[in-house]
Amino acid sequence: MSDCIFCKIIAGEIPSKKIYEDDHVYAFHDINPIAPVHALVIPKKHIQSILHISQDDGEHVHKIHLAIQEVAKILGVAESGFRVITNTGEHGQQTVFHIHYHVIGGRQLKWDM
Ligand code: AMP
Repeated sequence: MSDCIFCKIIAGEIPSKKIYEDDHVYAFHDINPIAPVHALVIPKKHIQSILHISQDDGEHVHKIHLAIQEVAKILGVAESGFRVITNTGEHGQQTVFHIHYHVIGGRQLKWDM
């Protein structure tokens, strides 16, 4: 989508700090981290939110989970643990409408973060 900032990041039109990339997934550091580790893992296909995943998106969903494993290993939180969050809609405080998985860790997390 032409006006989506995450599509522009995937296309290299907006700079980002890349962590991992494959045919289906791009992962990069969040610009406003809330913890020592705060990555965003996104499908290269523009999908608005978790509510917009279709039956045809199985490979994207699978590859995102495998990419999260890789990101956790690359950033050194696979052993200590981490949290994965997908904010959805207004009450979920979703601000970018290209589905993304926050990978947060590097410190002890509480339920209210
Ligand atoms: P959400 O509120 O769940 O939609 O999360 C959007 C996330 O995208 C926030 O944590 C922002 O800090 C992050 N973000 C927005 N623009 C950029 C950018 N250009 N590069 C990296 N992260 C970004």
